[in-house]
Amino acid sequence: MTDTFRVELPHRGDDDVVAARLFLAGARGVQERPDALVAWFDARTTLDDDLATRAQWFREADRDWQEAWKATIGPVSAGRFWVVPTWLADSFKPPAGTEVIVLDPGRAFGSGHHSTTAMCLELLDAEDRSASLRGRTVADIGCGSGILAIGAARLGATVTAVDIDPAAVASTRENAASNAVSVRVTQGSVDTLDEAADIVVANLITDVVADLAVQLAQATRTTLLVSGITAARQNVALDALVSAGMIVDDVRDENGWLAARLHPTATARGAARDR
Ligand code: SAH
Repeated sequence: MTDTFRVELPHRGDDDVVAARLFLAGARGVQERPDALVAWFDARTTLDDDLATRAQWFREADRDWQEAWKATIGPVSAGRFWVVPTWLADSFKPPAGTEVIVLDPGRAFGSGHHSTTAMCLELLDAEDRSASLRGRTVADIGCGSGILAIGAARLGATVTAVDIDPAAVASTRENAASNAVSVRVTQGSVDTLDEAADIVVANLITDVVADLAVQLAQATRTTLLVSGITAARQNVALDALVSAGMIVDDVRDENGWLAARLHPTATARGAARDR
């Protein structure tokens, strides 16, 4: 067995962006610890300057990184959902009344362990409890692993998912198939949707939510669930959505991350209907 290199980066409020960059730099696994974001590499890797200045490297001799990492990952619950890592799927006994989503957390973003994903699953669950998702349409913008699309499909919705990253598209297709649900997946963004959806869920980052605000509003018939917004910059995203004709119903905050539920004003709803 060969050595593994561990890098630790103190939290700065943009863990999801940093995690994505670490994966792009070749990380074998990324984990959120209370004090820092931790990633493992096969070799000491050159990180971009922004990360390199904050990064602390450690060499771990003879570490079976994968087994060690797996040991830290357990099933996680959000709303009615339990998200279970593939290697625990056979032994996991779901409590009554819950929906299980089986995913490989090492793949595309969306293992259920990030607050933004968990809050979106909770909001989808709450939406279904107030008016069943069965027979309604859901569009997942930035589907990553497909976790939210799969959750919505489990609750009976007709689901379309899009992501600009082809790896996420492939991952969502695989995960939907292994969870035995049907999700229509396309590479692209909100503008690739054929028509408005009853519910749009978009777990993106603050600036992307702001940039896409008008299109997200136009794509939404009744409910928009957004996350990936940092508490510190919530106005950037929420003001853009309000200017685009949305009304904020509910804002949740977990570990400095926000998720919000919005609905369109009558005018914006007309725009969605006329698309
Ligand atoms: N929905 C998953 C993944 C969220 S990560 C979850 O909730 O956990 C955000 C995803 O958005 C990434 O897969 C990224 O590729 C995608 N993304 C980023 N910008 C986008 C854009 N403009 N349009 C569509 N997808 C985008």
